[in-house]
Amino acid sequence: MCPRRARWVIDCQRDGYPIGAEVIELTTTARLPKPVSDSWQWQLKAACRDLASSRFFHPDHERGNSRDERERNAKRVCHTCPVIRECRAHALATREPYGVWGGLSEHERRTLVASGQVA
Ligand code: SF4
Repeated sequence: MCPRRARWVIDCQRDGYPIGAEVIELTTTARLPKPVSDSWQWQLKAACRDLASSRFFHPDHERGNSRDERERNAKRVCHTCPVIRECRAHALATREPYGVWGGLSEHERRTLVASGQVA
């Protein structure tokens, strides 16, 4: 039995006038991009979901002890988070430049990427 095939019809125009249609057969949807919501679904379970972003992202010119303290507190939240692995993987894959993600600071993520331990 032949699987049902999806068809995608594209109207073709030249100089604004219709000149026909092109039919594209789609035998599988596996190669199509997944819905964006699938990529972000894990965030619905994030322990930081209802917390102020300022707990995870530094204000301008924050340095020294106050930055260390803020990052330590953010990491404490991360270590209770049910999606820490997904968050960390996302931050490393996208080279997220700012904030604490997946229990890692900006500096820690940069170090991991620079060491070649991240693809
Ligand atoms: S690991 Fe941390 S930054 Fe990532 S979603 Fe959880 S609490 Fe938020």
